[in-house]
Amino acid sequence: MMIRKFGKQYLFVIVIVINCIYGALSFHLLGQTIHIAYTANLNCNLEACNCGDNDLGGMVQLANIIDALRDSFPDLLLIDSGDFLKTYPLEDANRLMIEMIYTIKYDAIGLGEQEYVDGEDFLMKEIEKYPLSLISTNIRCNVKESNYFQSYKILPVDTLSIGIVSIIRPECFDFIRRPEIEILPEENEIEKFLALHQDRLDLIILLLHGSYREGLKVAEKYPEISIIICGHTQEKYEKKLENQIVLQSGVDGEFLGFLKIVRDNMKIDFQNKFIPVNDTHGKNATFQEKVDEYFQRFENDAN
Ligand SMILES: [Zn+2]
Repeated sequence: MMIRKFGKQYLFVIVIVINCIYGALSFHLLGQTIHIAYTANLNCNLEACNCGDNDLGGMVQLANIIDALRDSFPDLLLIDSGDFLKTYPLEDANRLMIEMIYTIKYDAIGLGEQEYVDGEDFLMKEIEKYPLSLISTNIRCNVKESNYFQSYKILPVDTLSIGIVSIIRPECFDFIRRPEIEILPEENEIEKFLALHQDRLDLIILLLHGSYREGLKVAEKYPEISIIICGHTQEKYEKKLENQIVLQSGVDGEFLGFLKIVRDNMKIDFQNKFIPVNDTHGKNATFQEKVDEYFQRFENDAN
């Protein structure tokens, strides 16, 4: 027993020494594996349209896939890079979407401009009922006390501390204008966060509400940020860089991004895949019932 205990302590000391010698890579303990599922641009796609050949996307299916992943990987982090509501105002649908996002239990959600499509008051009212883990590092609300989102999140996963920041590009608000919201310069906010927290973090994730092209620029400028998950531009994209990865999971929740991260000596190994969101894991019965009710109401209102 004592030998095993001292063996563990000895191994821990070796790991610390190795990390001191090799300097600060993004996370410090060898052999740790992290699993992250990520979405963006869900666009309030409640269920697959099944139009043409496309049977992908929909919260009814996504919920079951996430449940299956959590069964296999209990430490799974679930994050979203924004635009989970519609591109146009439709309170009834957006309200249901917020409830579903809440039920699925995301660990962090970067605010996109579509979250304001029905107005800030609508968002705040719904968030009061269904508190979501919303974050934005560079949105400032000038009219109200901003208590419905946090600037960043620091999440413990096993023995690691993972920092998540969320930046939105100002041009995202070109079509959904909200005068009560100010977009702060992104680089200032990223640098403030890094200066305050970088030393105590093992891994930094940026939810970037902007294109992967912007993501690549941010990756080059801030090598401290290991993972950049983009949103807004509806693209499916993966680019591995030296100890960094830039990702976006496509449009309308057609794919769920699933990223496995292993620190292997001096390298961070990223294994990413895009899981098609279809009926493979069945449909969430509760969600299906709520979606059916919603479409029934929609039809009744139309007649
Ligand atoms: Zn957007």
